[in-house]
Amino acid sequence: MKKSLICVSCPLGCPIEVEIENGEVISVSGNTCKRGDAYARAEITNPVRSLTTSIKVEDGCHPVVPVKSSGPVPKDKMFECMQVINSATVKAPVKIGDVVIKNILGLGVDIVATNCDCGK
Ligand code: SF4
Repeated sequence: MKKSLICVSCPLGCPIEVEIENGEVISVSGNTCKRGDAYARAEITNPVRSLTTSIKVEDGCHPVVPVKSSGPVPKDKMFECMQVINSATVKAPVKIGDVVIKNILGLGVDIVATNCDCGK
């Protein structure tokens, strides 16, 4: 089986073809550099994404504050992470860089504020 990907490791966006047999990567082609090879193999075996969203704020001057994951999250855990974040509330004041959820789902990744809210 062949799978086509676009490498997102740099702005060049090389089109990559991955040949897969029994769930294993047999070959990677189209990449211009080693990073593309690593990206393609990871994308097939353990795809991850950065999570960017917002979280509810109690007593804030805004109803929500933007947050992001401190590192990549497995793609198949994104929905569960969003459920945790959507059901959580942080109390103002919130500063940029504050950890609003520590070690979400035990993944070793924190959810961190990317903006501030001084509160009402
Ligand atoms: S393969 Fe290399 S050059 Fe091409 S997009 Fe990926 S990182 Fe950039």
